[in-house]
Amino acid sequence: MANFVKKTIALVAHDHMKKDLVEWSRDHIEQLKQHDLVATGTTGALIADTLNLSVHRFKSGPLGGDQQIGALIAEKKLDCLIFFWDPLNPAPHDPDVKALLRLCSVWNLPVACNRATADLIITSPHFSSDEYHRFVPDY
Ligand code: PGA
Repeated sequence: MANFVKKTIALVAHDHMKKDLVEWSRDHIEQLKQHDLVATGTTGALIADTLNLSVHRFKSGPLGGDQQIGALIAEKKLDCLIFFWDPLNPAPHDPDVKALLRLCSVWNLPVACNRATADLIITSPHFSSDEYHRFVPDY
């Protein structure tokens, strides 16, 4: 029988994608409530205020928030990233966006860049089970 393990989930959405992330978070609020949530500044404020969830907020993405979340990944303090980046509009902090996605690959971190993938990650029985062990590279 698997035991529940509390995870740390990061939530980030670019401006045109924030509505989608709020809707997705509402759809999965019962799962999200069971975990520790962190977010970039504006995304975190929106989710905390709209859904009354407790969210630790870093700086706004363009002001370094993406890099703060990247630092969590490098320090092995993050379990999952839900990152609704905008495929149709350029971001002023595109290098930070790429760096964040790169670190997800470096550290084999589950990352969802759209709602379908986010649905599958958050509803997976492996997500919060002590029976699944994510491979973390040992550099
Ligand atoms: P924001 O940052 O939540 O502060 O808008 C998101 C981003 O652009 O990375």
